Amino acid sequence: MLLLKNGTFVHWQTLEFLQKDILIQEGKDGKIVLDPSPQDTIGAKVIDCTGGFITKSFACGHHHVYSALARGMGAPRKNPDNFNEILQYIWWALDKSLNTDMIRYSALATAIACAKNGVTFAIDHHASPFAVKGSLETIAEAFDEVGVGHLLCYEISDRDGMVIARQGFEESESFLMKNQGLVGLHASFTVGNDTLNQAVKLAGQMESGIHVHVAEATSDQDHCLATYGKRVIERFADAGVLQFPKTILGHCLHLSEHERGLVAGSPAWVVQNMESNLNNSVGFFNSKGLGNRIMLGTDGMHSDMLRSAKSAFFTGHNFDTIDYTETYRRFRNVHNYLYDNNFQGDDENNLVVLEYDTPTPLTSTNFLGHFLFGIESRHVKHVISKGKLIVEDGEIITVNERKILEEAGKQALTLWERMK
Ligand SMILES: [Zn+2]
Repeated sequence: MLLLKNGTFVHWQTLEFLQKDILIQEGKDGKIVLDPSPQDTIGAKVIDCTGGFITKSFACGHHHVYSALARGMGAPRKNPDNFNEILQYIWWALDKSLNTDMIRYSALATAIACAKNGVTFAIDHHASPFAVKGSLETIAEAFDEVGVGHLLCYEISDRDGMVIARQGFEESESFLMKNQGLVGLHASFTVGNDTLNQAVKLAGQMESGIHVHVAEATSDQDHCLATYGKRVIERFADAGVLQFPKTILGHCLHLSEHERGLVAGSPAWVVQNMESNLNNSVGFFNSKGLGNRIMLGTDGMHSDMLRSAKSAFFTGHNFDTIDYTETYRRFRNVHNYLYDNNFQGDDENNLVVLEYDTPTPLTSTNFLGHFLFGIESRHVKHVISKGKLIVEDGEIITVNERKILEEAGKQALTLWERMK
């Protein structure tokens, strides 16, 4: 048990401020007790949080462990002219070169980055076409070691042929037999009808959902119209992708009014990834007509959800209907997605302690102003995941970060060599 003393608790839903000590139980269903009786706290590790703000830790709605070793790599063989070339010359060149060791260190590095940013749960979408088997278990183990919760999937695709697509199904099925997770698909333009229908069938059998990129670039829509005579969401709706409350539709940038209506009328969720869209120059997210089930992700760009929220807000000014409240709602919606679908690992006993140096008063009524203009991941001091302290005074304490990053660096060099 942990006892957080002398801090200010900020309720993540009501934004109510409470000056109470917090007793935290360990475990996946662990609870927190505000103002515990002294005898209940016997044996608890005490953390003094004087001056600190304690609130629910953060979660990422769309991540890519596979991109962790890309930072700083050399230029691709060809300078990409459009989104499809960005995939072809950068991301597919990278993911095809991954082996199991690289996946392990990508996952460890990602989980450490998440934890240090106060993110205690990540929804990941993974691809490693020449190391499919066991890839999800490798990522799960790495996240468990660090202490970050996860909802994983393998992004099944026909892009590397049907043998690898088959392996994607086998990996998904064997992982889902033992773990919570989703059935991943890359995107409409790399998934034929057989694969699409089989994925929906598997999601149904496993009582799961589909996690897929949707209309990230206009080319996805062009391909769908030319190949299937309908738009991406129409195709997915017809195939049954939208029937699952666990389904996550990534990006959703280039949707018609009709498609937006189909999404809003379904139980499926949308995940917005603003910085990735800016980086790929593919367009701007607009929530119009999509309904309320919108959450935020990083798309593998980084693991900092406070940063994703700020990007959604500042860019959204120009292209979306978004204000302080709506930004915070989307930032926190991932918890509702996880809770409503009974996923484990994002309970009350996931907390972050912020050491926030503000020159102005922070109160319940102006919290959102501080959230957007003040609070950053550098203020994350302690992080508690499933009731366990995983970051103490800004340092990860569950694994040896220095050794892991050193090894990740070696793996990155090998990966970059293989990509040449
Ligand atoms: Zn993505």
